[in-house]
Amino acid sequence: MWNKLLQQVEESINVSLANSIRDIEATGQSIIKMQTGDPDFNTPDFICEASQQAMLSGETHYCASSGVSELKAAITQKLASQNKFTSPKSHHILVTQGAVHGLYLTLQTLLNYGDEVIIIAPYWMPYHSNIILAGAKPVVVKARAENDFIPSLNDIICAITQNTKAIIINSPNNPTGAVYSRDVLQSIGQHCFDKGIYIISDEVYEDLLYEDKHYSMQSILPNNPYIVTLFSFSKSYAMTGWRIGYLYGSKEFVAQANKLTQYITTSINSFVQAGAVSALTHQKSPESKQSILDLFSSRRELIINKISGTWLQHCIVIPKGAFYLFIDISSFSSNSMTFVKQLLEHEHIAFTPGLAFGVESDHCIRMTFASNEVDIIKALDILIRLK
Ligand code: PLP
Repeated sequence: MWNKLLQQVEESINVSLANSIRDIEATGQSIIKMQTGDPDFNTPDFICEASQQAMLSGETHYCASSGVSELKAAITQKLASQNKFTSPKSHHILVTQGAVHGLYLTLQTLLNYGDEVIIIAPYWMPYHSNIILAGAKPVVVKARAENDFIPSLNDIICAITQNTKAIIINSPNNPTGAVYSRDVLQSIGQHCFDKGIYIISDEVYEDLLYEDKHYSMQSILPNNPYIVTLFSFSKSYAMTGWRIGYLYGSKEFVAQANKLTQYITTSINSFVQAGAVSALTHQKSPESKQSILDLFSSRRELIINKISGTWLQHCIVIPKGAFYLFIDISSFSSNSMTFVKQLLEHEHIAFTPGLAFGVESDHCIRMTFASNEVDIIKALDILIRLK
């Protein structure tokens, strides 16, 4: 009766977890929430003010489906200065309703029935679901904790078949915090390019780096028509609820994706785009981006100190980017969902089960440090006490 592809996709584990949390909270019990990818602080005021001002001055109409020209101009400058793209052009940019919309548009634009897309596990679940919704097949390559969750080129090569249309790379990574080096990106990128395989580079955590530098795939293989890069304002500026991001690809690709989005969203909210312009161009922008990074950095330091000398120290690969810990709980359970549900019920704390990231051997949980310090300490104390 319903759409057959939609029937192949499960409801998001995060949504069902959020429902369980709401049920418990309805009984009056509070829950420590360590499962979300949403910073616990608000969007900087200057961004909100720019959007409010735009709304009051009449920027309340439909606008260009690919994004307003001021925003695309600001993005072009950012891509040149920060991401080191060679001569980025505005007709290679499509403003999207967050990177998840960019992902959907990308996969629907590129894929046909029977195509295969390589994804690296553990992976952000919407990759898997959106590949299926495009009628294609996800092919999973495992990244191992002992290799700091960096996939081996050889494993990727082994997964390539004549049907491989694309690979999705996510660095800095959700949920592992892995950051791919320039060499790793270069070798994966060059190999895929030589084979005519599209590289979808999800760079939404590009600003949350603690040790290494972030390299954009597009800067390593300049002006490569096979690269589509997904960006977002959500994590860099605490703008998750604004639903705004952008993608960058060849002009032919962007023209097709733009045609598709015209039938889905018509255009992105005009006043939200005004806020995004100020996030990129306002004089307070560098300082506010730095203070967000400093905050996550100090939380990460807190975690490193807190787990030192405990069992957790041996069960976490310290994240180099993003704001998650991917914790191996195999000495307690081989079923992350049961483990998470037990902690929710008995300790009133919520983590995300590893199952939500497509890991085959289901013995990990994800803990965020986008939550406040008090909750981070409580969460670590609960985990440390388990042994
Ligand atoms: N890509 C990854 C790896 C993410 O973790 C997320 C959000 O958590 C997104 C993309 C989506 O970001 P947006 O809020 O821009 O849709």
